[in-house]
Amino acid sequence: MQANPAIATSPQEIINVLRKLQALDDETREIRNRRAERMEHLERLRKVIAHMQREIDDKRGKLTEAETWHKTKSAELDADKDRLSKSKSKLSGVTRSREYVAVNKELDIIRKNIATKEDEVAKLVVAIDEFRAAIAKEEEKFRDWRAEADEAERDNQASLDSMDVKIAEVDGRRKAIAAQVERSIVSRYHKIAEARQGRGVVEMTNDICTGCNMALQPRFAEMVLRATSLVQCPHCSRYLYGDPEAPVTA
Ligand SMILES: [Zn+2]
Repeated sequence: MQANPAIATSPQEIINVLRKLQALDDETREIRNRRAERMEHLERLRKVIAHMQREIDDKRGKLTEAETWHKTKSAELDADKDRLSKSKSKLSGVTRSREYVAVNKELDIIRKNIATKEDEVAKLVVAIDEFRAAIAKEEEKFRDWRAEADEAERDNQASLDSMDVKIAEVDGRRKAIAAQVERSIVSRYHKIAEARQGRGVVEMTNDICTGCNMALQPRFAEMVLRATSLVQCPHCSRYLYGDPEAPVTA
């Protein structure tokens, strides 16, 4: 491997670089989490709105159906009423009793038809009114949600922009620092951090890994304190650093 003076080679230097990376990652983790939360909230709002929109469209479709049906039935009713008045005038011209009975029977049928249709039309009018009321109510709710989503969206844009600026700024510094150690070490640190709540390098205090709170064997603790080799916690794999000057409390 080619020697690069900018690359940290001693375990102490490497661990120092990893600690700097950890500090930067801690700085952005909170921002990234807040960013993700905001995006999730917005996503939820969008889903609710899309669902409401579908429900309203569905109801509007049913309303149109009911209105068409109402129109058809009303036209039929008008035709029946027309027939009724024609039959009535026919009745006034009838002289023979047999014919009178026949026309009267016809009148009865038409009257029954009219009664049935009037009933249907009345029911349709009620249904249409109910649909209209339900749609109006949902549209009102929809407007409220829409307003909230719009506000969240506007609000988000400003916050997201400033978060992104901050993340980009820290990422720039992070890149420069990450370049100070071998890439494989950075990627190992990164993998550990991802698997361990964002902490890839932690302090050892009183021979205990502060990442997983497990006690380390004296052999390990000694290696960490002397920093003559890069040590990973045997329990949680996090890189360990110690402060040899730290007073022992316990
Ligand atoms: Zn550990």
